[in-house]
Amino acid sequence: MVSEGDVAPAEAPPPGRRISVLGATGSIGRSTLDILRHAGPEAAQVVALTGHSNIAALAEAAREFRAEIAVTADPSRYEDLKEALAGTGIEAAAGERAVIEAAGRPADWTMAAIVGSAGLAPTLAALRQGTTLALANKECLVSAGPLFIEEAAAAGALLLPVDSEHNAIFQVLDRPNRAAVEKILLTASGGPFRDWPLERIAKATPEEAVAHPNWDMGAKISIDSASMFNKGLEMIEAMHLFGLTPAQVQVLVHPQSIMHSAVAYVDGAVLAQMGAPDMRHAIGHAFHHPARAPLPVERLDLAAIGALEFRAPDEVRFPALRLAREAMEAGGLAGCALNAAKEAALEAFMDRRLPFMGMAEVVEEVLGALAPFGPASTLDDVFAMDVRARAAAGERIAARFRAAGLGKGAAFA
Ligand code: NAD
Ligand code: MG
Repeated sequence: MVSEGDVAPAEAPPPGRRISVLGATGSIGRSTLDILRHAGPEAAQVVALTGHSNIAALAEAAREFRAEIAVTADPSRYEDLKEALAGTGIEAAAGERAVIEAAGRPADWTMAAIVGSAGLAPTLAALRQGTTLALANKECLVSAGPLFIEEAAAAGALLLPVDSEHNAIFQVLDRPNRAAVEKILLTASGGPFRDWPLERIAKATPEEAVAHPNWDMGAKISIDSASMFNKGLEMIEAMHLFGLTPAQVQVLVHPQSIMHSAVAYVDGAVLAQMGAPDMRHAIGHAFHHPARAPLPVERLDLAAIGALEFRAPDEVRFPALRLAREAMEAGGLAGCALNAAKEAALEAFMDRRLPFMGMAEVVEEVLGALAPFGPASTLDDVFAMDVRARAAAGERIAARFRAAGLGKGAAFA
């Protein structure tokens, strides 16, 4: 007979682990540093911190955590970084190659939190040295899912999902009964435009799109949440991460962002993970895995919350969900094309060169033009498709801008 006493408690990771944070100056990066701060100086020895334009924040973090090396991805900022670290003994480096090199330095735990497909090569470099990889950069799995999972297995790296939904699924996945998973319920807050009519969404500005009601995140992912492209990317991410079929991935709108996602089993049981909407929960979970440790996050008061709401998603107002499903079904490089076209369209929306609904229209046109999609067999296939899809999106965005009679100084929205 098995009693509770027979189950050994999970062991906490050893103190003094070597830790790197890729994208240390961003929203996830800063929350990761907060978790390290909370864990105390004995918990970690920081190897590499990387950033891009915010040199002051990168240098300050490197000084605080006594990092071995700080790297900016922007080569033109090398002198600034070097100067900011003068006299500290912390190595300074700059450029894409330097970020990849730093990511590949031996570490026991690496946070991958660079935004967009720029995170792909550095995250792979970290993965290849067999680290425990806390993965926030969902674009790695969207663009190169099977390749990425194979590389992780080959290197003996442990992938811990940090996206809150995937982290929730990871926490409630009944591993010995893996085959009994019927589907996953990927929750979505619905973003700031959840209840807006289509005509109003069509006129949405970048300022309106960036204002997420529940989560405090970087600008790009906030806008992706408003269009629901973020949820679309997460559908593809979940499919690869948990080895699911497209039909097993279901999106569920849940405005309060309390239930972070759930897994439904063949016996009708639905296991959900709940918590306050704070990314430090998922990051802290990945940091202390396989143990659980106190985290600096708000405790849930379910009685005060009172009721949790759920509803089906609307694929007409949010076509990103349909496009993501089509990309999942197409397979191969379709996810990469979707993400790259979306990144180009997102930049254009942020620059006011494309209206809000134009993002999904451009992505749909690019997917149509580039289909059928071959397999993502090598990283070169992925990079080549990324470039092609961005170029195809760029042409369409420019053509729309011209057709709308807009020139220099004029803008949509
Ligand atoms: P952010 O924009 O706040 O930060 C991005 C980080 O990437 C910064 O450190 C920046 O310096 C770095 N960076 C930007 N461009 C770069 C480049 N070309 N090369 C190298 N580094 C570059 O973004 P974020 O919100 O922290 O998101 C990071 C990743 O985590 C994204 O993939 C996002 O989808 C994912 N994610 C974020 C959240 C969240 O709550 N913010 C939740 C789930 C998943
Ligand atoms: Mg998420």
